[in-house]
Amino acid sequence: MTAAQKETLGFQTEAKQLLHLMIHSLYSNKEIFLRELISNASDAADKLRFAALKNDSLYENDPDLSIVIECDSKKKTITIKDNGIGMSREEVVENLGTIAKSGTAQFLESLTGDEKKDSQLIGQFGVGFYSAFIVADKVEVLTRKAGETAEQGVHWESKGEAEYSIESIEKVDRGTTIILHLKKDQKEFTEAFRLRSIVKKYADHISLPVKMLKEEFGEEEKKKKKKEKEFEVVNSAKALWARSRTEVKDEEYKEFYKHVSHDFEDPLEWSHNKVEGKLEYTSLLYLPAKAPFDLWNRDSAKGLKLYVQRVFIMDEAEQFLPLYLRFIKGVVDSNDISLNVSREILQKDPVVDSMKSALTKRVLGMLAKIKKKDIEKYQLFWQEFGQVLKEGPAEDTSNREKIAKLLLFATTHTGEEKQEQSLADYVARMQDNQNKIYYITSETHNTAKNSPHLEVFNKKGVEVLLLSDRVDEWLMNHLMEFDGKQFQDVTKGKLDLGELDSEEDKKQQEKVDEAAKPLLERVKKSLGEKVAEVRTTNRLTESPACIAVGEFDMNLQMRKIMEAAGQAVPDSKPIFELNLEHPLVTKLDEESDEDRFNELAAILFDQANLAEGGQLDDPGTFIRRLNKLLLDLSK
Ligand code: ADP
Repeated sequence: MTAAQKETLGFQTEAKQLLHLMIHSLYSNKEIFLRELISNASDAADKLRFAALKNDSLYENDPDLSIVIECDSKKKTITIKDNGIGMSREEVVENLGTIAKSGTAQFLESLTGDEKKDSQLIGQFGVGFYSAFIVADKVEVLTRKAGETAEQGVHWESKGEAEYSIESIEKVDRGTTIILHLKKDQKEFTEAFRLRSIVKKYADHISLPVKMLKEEFGEEEKKKKKKEKEFEVVNSAKALWARSRTEVKDEEYKEFYKHVSHDFEDPLEWSHNKVEGKLEYTSLLYLPAKAPFDLWNRDSAKGLKLYVQRVFIMDEAEQFLPLYLRFIKGVVDSNDISLNVSREILQKDPVVDSMKSALTKRVLGMLAKIKKKDIEKYQLFWQEFGQVLKEGPAEDTSNREKIAKLLLFATTHTGEEKQEQSLADYVARMQDNQNKIYYITSETHNTAKNSPHLEVFNKKGVEVLLLSDRVDEWLMNHLMEFDGKQFQDVTKGKLDLGELDSEEDKKQQEKVDEAAKPLLERVKKSLGEKVAEVRTTNRLTESPACIAVGEFDMNLQMRKIMEAAGQAVPDSKPIFELNLEHPLVTKLDEESDEDRFNELAAILFDQANLAEGGQLDDPGTFIRRLNKLLLDLSK
């Protein structure tokens, strides 16, 4: 088959589904198709400029990059023409026939069928080029890659259904022209005035000039009409971040955000700064309102758009922010980096390191400010990205203090699952003689909240952080201390409430321990290798028993996480603690029948495991034992 031959190809399944969904769910916001197409044209110009840094001939003697938008009300078409990088035949198939984003299939599965909700999701996904089909029932793309010959032009066409056709054509001028054949009921977009106002709205923040036919006023003008079409630039065509803060309106910041992030929603906050002095750069950092659909995908898009002296260099420059701030979107424009920079060079450049540390501080400062000024807004951020920020103390020890101040937790203060208490809030509520920050980690909030380990804390009115996010174990391993106070896992080691226990309490405990020795030994003998130690407890007020771990051992939650990840877990046994005041333990102590003693001890041990959210080795035997006891009771 020669390349020129017309081919009809089917869209990739995902592309088909997405097209269908988008056409239906974005209908109420249909004008965004222009934003997406202008955004693509602007990216294409950026890419050409970058490629031309190394190879000037790519400009083909036409270095003035721009977008031209025209409409024809008779033919009901809108044409968007750029002289950017263009696409080869393979690129057209690759870019317009498939959806290259990883996780697309997962994304489609997450859709609910509820159009309103789905349209938000699809916004997060970013539909780009396909949005043309919201208003058009046929889309044509004519394109030719910079540096290739006129014969290597490509014509792509689709009705947005199952398939598209592709054909080689002659195209003299470089770049991409998109022709939208509007649906019958979308004629409004061919009204010059309407189109112009949308173009202005969506193009004002990009640095590329966007041209439209000059406006004509009244009959006089029409009479004078020249044969030659006259175009004028309708946007301000200056890189938004290069303008001064006072000049840029909030609306423009928001539009620019949508351009850089491919998000449909407004950002939650932004920070625009020009740095002068030893290093010179401008940064415009955005905090999104919603997590992208692929936040947890390892190779999801992260990093800033890098410009050097206004010239676009690369997308997703990850070197300027740490991973735990990967949700930040935006632009950084440096005067100190070479135009020939590559990702490898960026990784080693000390200039980049200094910028990274300054930008990190900038973001942490922005978050601290929101938290202080508008806690409700901060909560919104926390809900979306809190778990990512929790990776911070492990990754970035130099900012550990700052990050710790930004953390929010669920605690026994309210018992609510929502994470809304800061460590400063906790410290302010600490008891006079309390010197540690207590926490418990579990698989779920309820397991943490109802853990027997909290009984004594509840009794004494001492607050405990309730941690149930996966990342929490990791976080607590790196947090160490806050405000001079150490963190203490309530399930680890012997519970030493320090100053919270009076001397008298302690003496009393020692006496009790002494008296209980025979019972403890008997239980240890009965449970054998399952436990490292059996001892009395000062943690419990209501439960008969609980499981604790050694001070330097891994707690149960960490163990579970590591096991789930298929990692080897050190072999350490739990400590079994008995509440001597509990009637079941008294009963155990009084049991003279050895078999019954063993059964009861085993049940108490299994129960304690269950209360921690643990899994029993042998649930069947546990149930059989329990049922036997229940039957005995009803006798
Ligand atoms: P995105 O822009 O998010 O990558 P799109 O669906 O909008 O997704 O576009 C897919 C790809 O098609 C782009 O990444 C780009 O490579 C290519 N493309 C789209 N429009 C143009 C254009 N006007 N000029 C050159 N390439 C384009």
